[in-house]
Amino acid sequence: MKLEGASILGYSRAKTAGDHIHALNPATGAEIPPDYFSATIDEVAHAAQLASSAFAEYRRWQPRRRADLLCRVAQLIESNAPALIERALQETALPQPRHQGEIGRTCGQLRLFASLITEGWWVDARIDHGDPDRKPIPKPDVRSMLQPLGPVAVFSSSNFPFAFSVAGGDTASALAAGCPVIVKAHQGHLGTSELVGLLIQQAARESAAPDGLFSLLFGPGRDVGIALVKQPFIKAVGFTGSRAGGRALMDSAAARPEPIPVYAEMGSINPVFILPGALKKTPEALATGLHASVTLGVGQFCTNPGLVFIENVPPVQTFLQTLEGLMTATAPGVMLTPSICSEYQAGVNKFSHVPGVRLLTRPISESRSASADAQAALFLTDAETFHVNSTLMDEVFGPSTLVVQCHSKAQMLAAAAQLEGQLTATIHGTPEDFAANQDLIAILETKVGRLVCNGFPTGVEVCHAMNHGGPYPATADGRSTSVGTRAINRFARPVCYQNFPDVALPDELKDSNPLHLFRLVDNKFVQ
Ligand code: NAP
Repeated sequence: MKLEGASILGYSRAKTAGDHIHALNPATGAEIPPDYFSATIDEVAHAAQLASSAFAEYRRWQPRRRADLLCRVAQLIESNAPALIERALQETALPQPRHQGEIGRTCGQLRLFASLITEGWWVDARIDHGDPDRKPIPKPDVRSMLQPLGPVAVFSSSNFPFAFSVAGGDTASALAAGCPVIVKAHQGHLGTSELVGLLIQQAARESAAPDGLFSLLFGPGRDVGIALVKQPFIKAVGFTGSRAGGRALMDSAAARPEPIPVYAEMGSINPVFILPGALKKTPEALATGLHASVTLGVGQFCTNPGLVFIENVPPVQTFLQTLEGLMTATAPGVMLTPSICSEYQAGVNKFSHVPGVRLLTRPISESRSASADAQAALFLTDAETFHVNSTLMDEVFGPSTLVVQCHSKAQMLAAAAQLEGQLTATIHGTPEDFAANQDLIAILETKVGRLVCNGFPTGVEVCHAMNHGGPYPATADGRSTSVGTRAINRFARPVCYQNFPDVALPDELKDSNPLHLFRLVDNKFVQ
């Protein structure tokens, strides 16, 4: 596959006439060929127009055909994995096993959505048969199911160059739902994005998909991204990244003449609560597990545990000393982009200047070596300081965590109540701890999308039951998830048919149930 540096507009390529952008090697700061060209506003509009035309046909495809397309994308990604990994290694500084694992995850996601739509139950088909003899008025025949929304704009993330990028969960779930997709490529891995985009284009061609089912746009978010969100043909947005970026898209979408939903997964500090029983039993193991989770992938995970509450009971010093030793000994790691690294350093410096907060590891400026190198940072403070400094709830995206010592259970509960919406919260405790802390669990249930017991939040399983979401500001809409099969619901809406003749109903709602779906029929789940 030859890289051209031009946006993919359905089955065509954009002209290489827009502004130049470059792929960078974050370890060296060197530019990687070829030159990339920003899509023009006309090209953005063209991609949206094509997607709208494609929707008219694609939404009518049988689920089996959409599933075959998703599986073909997975096959092509697998068979081209060496080339994809070679490029991703240059662009991201992430190691080979990470890319290998992520490709497996990406293909697994595509196949999971393929099997979901083949089974079909996700459409939530409901049938309430009419009763013309009901008194005092006849009961109408009412049936409903989920139907695709229309073209979806996807903003791929920096930190998962495959699994949350061009063929990642947002694209897979939107295509599975029956929606065309236009991806705004992340500038942190332009070449990897183009390669994956070409594979989706190939799969679409082989499947005789309508032109415009998939497009990939290069260019800055503030121009190309905002122009995409404003296109009237776009009906929903998926995003993973910073709060500032997600918020900009939410505001643009809300200001459109026709506002549209934005499913933005933005930022989270994933608090960890270490309860006294667990601390007394295994202080060193807790410190080791926490260190591994905080520094995994140079801390560049949305589920990175950036905040730890611990009760001030005797082994707390053992825990802190072990953690401090491990964090200090951690070698600096190259971050995904120079700007993510400078944001990280700014965040660490900001925390360092909060009165009452101590940096237990080396000051960040002493450890800088390459342009995107980040040194792990461990902060310590007390519950009183945390209570009066809301800035300590800001995400510091990278290998950093803040430990908050609490003098009582009441302080821990107050801190939990103060938290903003989060993707996850983790509780370490013995069975006795859990029994004695039902009030903490009750608070956290209102704050987060996923509760983890005696583990760490990094590592998000892709499965039916997963919820990777959380109340604002963790996501734009806490009722949604971007991981797991429920992610498909973001790109669909219920449509109800009242007193429709069987012949005019979608197959999913016909009396004969030709797709053999599980459906809710007259109050009972039946196949
Ligand atoms: P980002 O800056 O939010 O960028 C993500 C995407 O949104 C990019 O395609 C970007 O385009 C676009 N974008 C950003 N600001 C925009 C705006 N004002 N208008 C329109 N589009 C905009 O995220 P990032 O580059 O991945 O990393 C930066 C920071 O995001 C990190 O330091 C971290 O704080 C956070 N982050 C969070 C998560 C998470 O999962 N919670 C994951 C990754 C990063 P351009 O780059 O082309 O402008």
